[in-house]
Amino acid sequence: MPALFLGHGSPMNAIEDNPCSREWAALGRRLPRPRAILCISAHWETHGIHVSAGAQPETIHDFHGFPKALFDVRYPAPGSPELARRVAELIGTAPGSHRVHLDPDRGLDHGAWSVLRPMYPQADIPVVQLSLDSARPGDFHLALGQRLAPLREEGVLILGSGDIVHNLRLYSLHRTAAMDWALRFRTLANRLIENGDDQALADYPALGADAQLAIPTPEHYLPLLYVLGARRADERPVLFNDMVTSSLSMTSILYGAPAA
Ligand code: ZN
Repeated sequence: MPALFLGHGSPMNAIEDNPCSREWAALGRRLPRPRAILCISAHWETHGIHVSAGAQPETIHDFHGFPKALFDVRYPAPGSPELARRVAELIGTAPGSHRVHLDPDRGLDHGAWSVLRPMYPQADIPVVQLSLDSARPGDFHLALGQRLAPLREEGVLILGSGDIVHNLRLYSLHRTAAMDWALRFRTLANRLIENGDDQALADYPALGADAQLAIPTPEHYLPLLYVLGARRADERPVLFNDMVTSSLSMTSILYGAPAA
């Protein structure tokens, strides 16, 4: 199976027909159908590592100030307690492993369903979420991605959902032109992704002042590191939805997919 990072942007992308959501829909039609999806979303931060383990996760509306139509969305994909146990096994055994908490009551947050609804509107593929222990450094998340890589051979789509450039404090609805620093960091990150320089991307605090503006808090950036960790060394990235609005990027990366 491919490994995929999606810039998710506004929750409204879940219900809006726009170039990004159309691209997600096209991917859902084009990619091999996964047996299950493991989503690493910006919107589930924990102390320690948690995995959603319920058979029927609820749709979580974890945002404010959006239209009722968005709060009405339900994404009724089943969970997969079996995949949750497999994730715990991959992360939680072997030397240097970490304890994994199975969480049967965790639902799907909008980082997961806002992209999955356009991508798989039938909601008939089981979805499991892995939390972000976001106080940990980049290396930690990259290493977890490496541990999850075998899932790809087991028919599981590894899906990171965040935004490489994400600064809501500086975001302006009235000045949608990309900010200079956002464009510069997008260009730098893209070059490092194209060059396969995962170590530099994991050590993002060392990437300078633009990185500090692009990643004021780590949660939207970290899902990328799981996808990088899960790639094979010889896989080339395909970048798409590579646009920046104000202080937010939608840049998305696909590894291991058949050509479009
Ligand atoms: Zn988000």
